[in-house]
Amino acid sequence: VKGNGKNNYAYYSQDLTAQLTKRVSIERALHAALKEGRLQVYFQPQINMVTGKLTGAEALARLTGEDGRFIPPDEFIPIAEEIGLISSLGKLVLEKSCAQARQWLDQGTACKVAVNVAAQQFNDHRFSETVVATMKKYNLPSQYLELEITESALVEDFNSANLTLEALKRSGISVALDDFGTGYSSLSYLRSFKLDVIKIDKSFVKDVTCDPQAACIVKAIIGLAKSLNLHLVCEGVESCEHEALLIKLGCADAQGYLYSKPLPVDDFNDYLVRNSLN
Ligand code: C2E
Ligand code: CA
Ligand code: CA
Ligand code: CA
Repeated sequence: VKGNGKNNYAYYSQDLTAQLTKRVSIERALHAALKEGRLQVYFQPQINMVTGKLTGAEALARLTGEDGRFIPPDEFIPIAEEIGLISSLGKLVLEKSCAQARQWLDQGTACKVAVNVAAQQFNDHRFSETVVATMKKYNLPSQYLELEITESALVEDFNSANLTLEALKRSGISVALDDFGTGYSSLSYLRSFKLDVIKIDKSFVKDVTCDPQAACIVKAIIGLAKSLNLHLVCEGVESCEHEALLIKLGCADAQGYLYSKPLPVDDFNDYLVRNSLN
């Protein structure tokens, strides 16, 4: 890069300062949220595209910054991982999700909840115990809880990951492999681990109607899921065109802005009640 070196440095250091300030404020917001339980959980409906019926909800963490605005998960989750807070954060989301699923059961609008689990959290040797204890605490039948992990949770220690998955399976909790297709060795994971669901990453769904290669990949993943007897969910369904093509390719379950954005609990509740009347 040519130009005035001094000036470049000034820009660079300004940029660094801004980044650092942001980072510090996210860390502060994380600590505060975990201390005061201020972390919110939003819920995004999962839909059967063929019947239009609700099949569940994904729980998504929401963190408010000091300025009252949301900090995107893609910013605070990696920081929580880095500074060792992701397991506490995940525990809190799990706790709130189980409490919510219990409440939905009690009000007669039962809804399964899918909770994201970070690699670090999944690899804690007490993880499955914690999950089972939380379900017990709320007297939540296991069919109402699903866990979403990514490949990164499975790479660290094959044996312990398998033990954890087996323990979850024994407890009747299903496990989804999230962001399917974006990793490196998804196929071998499907063979080695006892999973129940795969979630096709939204990057494939996004291009499925305009890029024949993306459509081929989605089609192949759907075939794979069928032959391995895995349940399949498409994420990022944003248009009727997406929906029509995915149904044609053989996928029924989906999540995406076409149906709803992730909703605060009260709005999701309205959605649930409306859905139960249909
Ligand atoms: P994810 O698990 O893949 O979650 C799906 C993301 O896609 C969510 O973003 C959701 O709002 C977004 N999404 C849903 N439908 C559409 C759509 O039609 N179009 C587009 N463009 N996006 C859609 P969100 O809530 O910002 O979360 C981002 C990521 O942060 C999540 O990706 C997940 O990896 C992570 N995350 C969120 N909450 C938690 C949590 O409690 N624990 C952990 N470990 N990670 C979390
Ligand atoms: Ca997820
Ligand atoms: Ca995903
Ligand atoms: Ca993701």
